[in-house]
Amino acid sequence: MKDLEASPRGAADVLDVIVVGGGFGGMCATYTFREMGLNIQCFEAGSDLGGVWFWNRYPGARVDLPSIDYSFSFAPEIEQEWTWSEEFAAQPELLKYIDFVATRLDLRKHFRFNTRITGARWDEASGLWHVSTDKGDTLRTRYCVMATGPLSVQKTPDIAGYGRFKGESYLSGSWPHEPVSYAGKRVGIIGVGSTGIQCVQEVGRQAGELFVFQRTPSFTMPMRNQKLSADYVADVKRNYAGLRAAARASTVGGLRPQSSRAFYSVTPQTRRQLLEDAWKLGGLCILGTFSDLMTNQEANDYVADFLREKISDVVKDPVTAEKLKPRGYPVFARRACLDTGYYETYNLPNVHLMDCLEDPILEITEKGIRLESGEVELDMIIFATGYDGLTGALMAFDVQGRDGLRLKDKWQEGPRSFLGVAVAGFPNFFMTVGPNGPSALANIIRINENDVALIARAIRHMDENGLTAMEPRQEAEDAWMEAIRAAAGRTLLSKAKTWYVGANVQGKSQGLTMFTGGFAKYAEACEDAAKDGFHAFRFEPARALAAE
Ligand code: NAP
Repeated sequence: MKDLEASPRGAADVLDVIVVGGGFGGMCATYTFREMGLNIQCFEAGSDLGGVWFWNRYPGARVDLPSIDYSFSFAPEIEQEWTWSEEFAAQPELLKYIDFVATRLDLRKHFRFNTRITGARWDEASGLWHVSTDKGDTLRTRYCVMATGPLSVQKTPDIAGYGRFKGESYLSGSWPHEPVSYAGKRVGIIGVGSTGIQCVQEVGRQAGELFVFQRTPSFTMPMRNQKLSADYVADVKRNYAGLRAAARASTVGGLRPQSSRAFYSVTPQTRRQLLEDAWKLGGLCILGTFSDLMTNQEANDYVADFLREKISDVVKDPVTAEKLKPRGYPVFARRACLDTGYYETYNLPNVHLMDCLEDPILEITEKGIRLESGEVELDMIIFATGYDGLTGALMAFDVQGRDGLRLKDKWQEGPRSFLGVAVAGFPNFFMTVGPNGPSALANIIRINENDVALIARAIRHMDENGLTAMEPRQEAEDAWMEAIRAAAGRTLLSKAKTWYVGANVQGKSQGLTMFTGGFAKYAEACEDAAKDGFHAFRFEPARALAAE
């Protein structure tokens, strides 16, 4: 690592980069900037690395992309030395992987754990960011890199009486590190998104009684998880470079099957067969059946009907089966879930579906949950009620750019940035997996690596050319936001009330702000932005560090 005295800004107490967040993005950024010889300081609110996988220890937590794909590609030694045991790794194995990477690459020494950033202010005079923490100190840095993640701020459940319950109460996103026992208990789970579904199938098998409080049913498909054989893993290790290249060239940034076949280009019999085949393969294969699944309402309706039929095939009680069937929004417009025996859980005699559309939750009481029809007494409540997605973490503290412009004010009507990586008016401020990139719509690890590589290139460009500050040109940001708007208008993605569009948080601006054009096009746009000396950015030449 570079000697502090040799910092390009010439002052011993000036850092090159502050990285906020110790999840996959923060780990990738830490390694990359350290290897560049930059003087870095990284912060993490938790007591260790791992981001969502550190916090989300709820029962059944498991990744829903293949582990082979959902892993770093920036360090070949990690790819070769680590071996995944399952196609879709469970949270404990993901944490082991994170520990392995952190130890092997010696990343922890760069982090201050249990520390939150409380503010970041651009100081025009010095051309530096002043970053303050909840421990009371303020640091100066040339660059701020926010690796804060799109799903790191859990929503406080917006249910009357929240906090009154006298029994055991857990938020899925801040789960205790000690084991939790469900045996013989009356457990309530509120929420049936990806988190709730994973909890239900696990807790249903163990609890005395399980009450699932469902407002909007989700579409979920069989994960068909399997152990990975030694031969398969060896083959993957030989071919990692090719697999990564294929992932980067794809829409989803991953190895999931994709199709260029439009719905009406095949006969009705073939359509059905394609869906049956994808269903048998499991995972998100159904998403790859028709190229126009997310743009053609009729194609989408057909697939939704197919999935609804599958529910009736499993759930024995026809009334429960009907209640579990999602209706009124396109399939995949709400994040699709993968399960292992979710619908089968409702055939267990101890599991009860509470339809909160028909019988809404009125309040949390000291003893349980009061519905319109009466009180359900419980020993434990699990809140799987979701996140303030995409912008929650970036809006959680005060970020002030040029001329006192606050990010909260700039984003009042929704997040605006260039590529989800940089923001006009906020020099030397970068984000990984920002709210205007592909974010939740593609493999988050590929996006993190792409974004960190772009930021690293930008910093090198600054240093090689003796520059002080860079920020996207306003017209570049406007053009990118227009590209997002145009692409969003062609898809069915905004036709569901979800965290994708900010609809799950009261008072939040609404609309699809993610780039829906796919990972490969996004990576191309990033590459293009870096061309010709980062033509989409404006720069300030070097200046002496002002005395403060
Ligand atoms: P979510 O998808 O936003 O689901 C929240 C659930 O809570 C919804 O069913 C919602 O119902 C319900 N809810 C919220 N407030 C409620 C209230 N007041 N009364 C009744 N129900 C209420 O959140 P999530 O399940 O935590 O998932 C968030 C994202 O995390 C996912 O989309 C996915 O990207 C990621 N994730 C991934 C994995 C994985 O990789 N395996 C696992 C978990 C999460 P309404 O829809 O009616 O509002």
